[in-house]
Amino acid sequence: MNMTTLYPSIRLRRGKEQSLDRFHPWVFSGAIDLVDESIDEGDTVTVCASDGRLIGVGHYQIGSIAVRILDFSNTVVDKEFYGSRLRDALALRMALGLNRPDNDAYRLIHGEGDFLPGLIVDIYGNTAVMQAHSPGMHYARNTIALALTELDGLNIANVYYKSETTLPFKARLDPVNDYLIGGFETNIATENGLKFHIDWLKGQKTGFFIDQRDNRALLQRFSHGRNVLNMFCYTGGFSVYALRGGAKRVVSVDSSAKAIALTQANADINFTDDTRHEAVAEDAFKYLDTMAQDEFDLIILDPPAFAKHQSALRNALRGYQRLNAKAFEKIAPGGIVFTFSCSQAVSKEQFRLAVFSAAASTGRRVRILHQLTQPADHPISIYHPEGEYLKGLVLYVE
Ligand code: SAH
Repeated sequence: MNMTTLYPSIRLRRGKEQSLDRFHPWVFSGAIDLVDESIDEGDTVTVCASDGRLIGVGHYQIGSIAVRILDFSNTVVDKEFYGSRLRDALALRMALGLNRPDNDAYRLIHGEGDFLPGLIVDIYGNTAVMQAHSPGMHYARNTIALALTELDGLNIANVYYKSETTLPFKARLDPVNDYLIGGFETNIATENGLKFHIDWLKGQKTGFFIDQRDNRALLQRFSHGRNVLNMFCYTGGFSVYALRGGAKRVVSVDSSAKAIALTQANADINFTDDTRHEAVAEDAFKYLDTMAQDEFDLIILDPPAFAKHQSALRNALRGYQRLNAKAFEKIAPGGIVFTFSCSQAVSKEQFRLAVFSAAASTGRRVRILHQLTQPADHPISIYHPEGEYLKGLVLYVE
């Protein structure tokens, strides 16, 4: 093996370096010929081609994705390395104008999209919420937390680590959700001038669906004078934007009572005692079945990922079709549907086909006004198309 490597080596089988030569950051276990015996799960390793040529350094783990490449060079992976990646990521968010007094909620690190596979960092004011998806990032958590607090231009005082459900169970890392630095100060963050209670302690993901920010802003422009149904509202992001946009009435629906309480709190903190808003804890399909015909002329459908894995794809597509068909059946003529899928396993084309089938089954005239995706603080590395997951359509239904 190559004598100049910084870390214990993993050697690929012949011909298995092709995707890596095109900068795809994953080494699948089937591509590996030899693993240096000193290597443990979560270690930083050097990856070499079968002829000993150095490919890069990355985090090793046991599973189908065996190495996540951090850099395609012979780089030391230390605090300065993470600091440099974080600075690059922050420079991009600054260029996007996301770090403003009226907007302090955004994603700083989006895994492969920010060349830190296995790591998510979301910013809420002076708190960073960090999620590790790989053992390597779990072991690096304190180094990364420190690097976060040292970022110029960001004033991070608290770093909350939330990886109990994101790390591979088999790795037996027993992660604990807790503050690595600082502690609880406030959980109110601002997005485009609207305030939101963010529950990173108990909520889904890091507490907020930051990825819908741009789509919520677009929804605001459609909401004036409309009767809005925000289905799968979670913390009520779309509802609050609709209220600001001048909606006549906004009904937020989620099956979780906790989500409904958060939605109501978020409506209240922005629009005190606004009688236009109502939050209902109810199953989506049940609500759509029982609501009156033409009751709503703007419907948002943002369900949880129906397909977490490829194996669930067929059922997921059927789920999207059923859900969208119900909205098409009931929406008033001239209505607008914002419909989404956040399943990575469902492609843009497959989702569109499911929505097409739903439309066709109702016979309504349906036109696509906008095709939506994830915002720029969830960037997709051109070398890692798997990073694209959020898909949405804005439809005009006659
Ligand atoms: N639109 C939200 C995110 C939605 S997350 C936002 O912008 O923040 C998906 C939500 O769907 C979760 O809050 C979950 O509680 C809810 N949910 C899951 N199954 C449901 C069902 N059958 N009926 C209603 N809500 C459901």
